[in-house]
Parts: sequence; C-alpha cells; structure tokens
Amino acid sequence: MTEVLRTKLYRSIFVKLLAIMLATAVTLLFMVGGFVWLVINPDLITSRRLIADYARALAATSPNYETAKKLAADLDLRIRYEGPDGTWQTSPGLPSIREVKNWRHDFYVAPAPRGGSYLISWELGRRMRETHNKLLWLLHFLMLVVVFMAYIVIRHALRPLRSLHQGVTRLSEGHLDVVVPSWTRDEFGVLTEAFNQMVRRIREMIRARDQLLLDVSHELRSPLTRMKVALALLPEGEKKQRIAADVSEMETMIAELLELERLREGRGISTERQNLVSIVREMAESFQDRPPGVRFIAAASEILVEIDGDKIRTVLRNLLENAVKYSLPDSRPVVVSVTEEEAAVIVRVADDGPGIPETDLASLFEPFFRVDRSRSKKSGGYGLGLSICKRIMTAHGGGVAAANNAGRGARFTLTLPKPA
Ligand code: ADP
Repeated sequence: MTEVLRTKLYRSIFVKLLAIMLATAVTLLFMVGGFVWLVINPDLITSRRLIADYARALAATSPNYETAKKLAADLDLRIRYEGPDGTWQTSPGLPSIREVKNWRHDFYVAPAPRGGSYLISWELGRRMRETHNKLLWLLHFLMLVVVFMAYIVIRHALRPLRSLHQGVTRLSEGHLDVVVPSWTRDEFGVLTEAFNQMVRRIREMIRARDQLLLDVSHELRSPLTRMKVALALLPEGEKKQRIAADVSEMETMIAELLELERLREGRGISTERQNLVSIVREMAESFQDRPPGVRFIAAASEILVEIDGDKIRTVLRNLLENAVKYSLPDSRPVVVSVTEEEAAVIVRVADDGPGIPETDLASLFEPFFRVDRSRSKKSGGYGLGLSICKRIMTAHGGGVAAANNAGRGARFTLTLPKPA
C-alpha cells in the first residue's frame, strides 16, 4: 500500500466508521463462537464419550444384520459390519472401516467379539455438526450482509460531508456563488446551513467593499480634476512636479478601479474573430528591448479566436510588464508562447524572476494584493493589474492561472475557448 493511500485511509471518517462496524461485528462473532465453544461443546464431548462407550457395548453383543437394523432405527444410528461373517450395513452410504480409521468425529469403530469390526455412525452428532457448519457459514454471510449494509448506510450518512467538502473547495477557488445543498436536519445539516450563511455573509461583505471602492473612485474624480486645474496655475518647480506625479498616480489608480468595475461579471467587452498569434507577437515585440528581453514561441502563424483585441492586449501588457519588472539582473529572457490544445488556446508568459510564494498564489488575482508591499510599491504597482487580467479573461469565458516554474520564476497561463 502506498504511503498516500495509507494516509488517506487513516484520515477518512468513512473508513474509521466502517472499521468500527467491522470490529463490532467480529467481536460479536467471537462472542457467539466462544459461547458455543465453552457452553455447548463440553456437552457434545460428554455425549460423544457416552456414545463411544455405547458403541463398544453394542459391538460386544455382536448383533447380526437384523438386530443391527432394528437398533439403528430405534437409536438413530447407522451400523456397518466387516468381518468373517461378511460385510453389511444398515443403510447405504457408509464409508469402509479402513477409510474411517483416522476420522475423529461421529464414527466409532469397535471390535466384534468373534473377529471383524463394527462401524457405528452417530447420526444426531453428524447432523448437529452439519448444522453447526451451516450456521457458521450463515453467520459469516450475515456478517458480510451487515457490513455491506453498513457501508451503504455510512456512505449515505456522510453524503453531506462530501457536499461540504466540495463547497469549501469551490469557495477556496474563489467561487462565491457556492450553495451546499442541505440533505439532513442533523449536525451535518446545521453545519451546512452555517456554511451557506457564512458564504452569504462573505459575498455581502465583498459586494459592499466593491461598491465602496466604486463610489470612492467616482467621488474622487471631481476633486482630482479640480486639483489638476489648480496645479496648472501653480508656478513651475520641483514641488509642482512631485504633486503632478502623485495626481497622475491617483488618476491611474482610479482609472484601473473603474475599469475593474466595468468588467464585473463578464461585462464590458466586445469580441470579434482575430488572429491571437499576431496580437501576442506584437505585444512580445514591444517588450523586446526591455531587459532581460522576450522570446516568442508560436506553434502556428495563425490561431483564430473570438476576443476583444484591446482587452487581450491589456492582459498581455500587464503580464509582460510584471515579468520584466520582477526579473532579476541575471534572469533569462521572458518566454511567451501560444499553443492550440484540444479544448482551448493557451498563452503562457514565463519569467526567470524570484517567483511567487506558494501561499500567495491563491490571492494573487485579488484587487490590491501585492506579495511584498514595500517591494511592489517601489516598483510602482497597486496590485490591480492581475485582478483586471482575471476579469478580462473571465469575460472571455476563459481564465488565468499563476504557478511557479520548476526551476526559478513565475508562469502565468491564459486560457481562451476555441471558437465554435
Ligand atoms: P502590481 O501592479 O503591484 O504589479 P499586479 O496585480 O500586477 O500588481 O500583481 C500583484 C502582485 O503579484 C505584485 O505586487 C507582485 O508581488 C506579484 N507578481 C505579479 N507578477 C509577478 C511575477 N512575474 N513575478 C513575481 N511576482 C509577481
């Protein structure tokens, strides 16, 4: 068994419950077996000894075939004789004395006084043994049935747990529309309801946050315009330049925030069929001269997709800007590739920079998220670029994902659906 499977089994509540059921069934089986062994078996052994004595006493009277037949019918026995008077038996199907010599149960061989031997079979003992064996098999079979039923019942009882697990996974992937169906009114049902309530609250909080951002961005536009007018009236100088730089930074931020809002829920794009390869090549070439340079790879010269060209350019610009910005002095060129796969068209932007901490990969596309706030601030970002990329890609029915390269650096993968 592999280590992974062992850990999985060890951690599974389902397996634990099934193990408890099995342990209970086996314990019960042992208890019943022990009872039979300790209480019923001694009686059987005693009666067997009596029968052995009786068989010897019976053989000592050396009954002939007729007497034996009557005795057998009266006492529920079967008798076989092998000796100088020939071989006979009271009912068919008895083994020969030679065959029976080494058998322990239910057959008794006693010498006849005038030579030869009697084989006496105790029918009641044999029947009881057969019944015991049948009972044992039946018990095993019933245990299997019980375990199978327990398997089905436990599986059914743990169904809400599986749904909850799927819900939590979807939530952690950023799907805030998740609703876990509530199957039962037990603790699992209560937990599911609490989970759904929590998701609703998170959704409301995020909506309120987005609304606040949107309102603030709108409200800031007029004072900013007034500031720009006032700034134009100020005398030239270093101070004016610094304020102008700050104002333009605020303007960019507000423009990005409003853009983010426009793209909400797949709105704000108008698509037409275009050659993605030429758009990616054009963007890669525009970053060619920035260190560490860009290497462009395309499997074909033309891949047609339904896209909003300007918006896809914005995505590529953001990714390339980051890739170049976060590259290190000794980094290899950024690699941009376009490939057509079975179900989608894929664009990859891979750099040779410091990469992204694994714990931050999930939050990377959140607005205002920056890995290292001091480092990013110096490089001039607000943490809005990637969230815009994500909204644009989602609006196209595609997606964007980030990962770290096997060696060094980060890799962003854009997915676009193939045109029908
Ligand atoms: P910013 O404008 O601050 O770069 P982004 O949304 O584009 O904002 O990126 C968010 C954060 O993700 C960045 O602050 C940076 O820490 C990290 N990041 C983005 N791209 C890369 C990359 N290629 N290599 C390393 N870190 C990156």
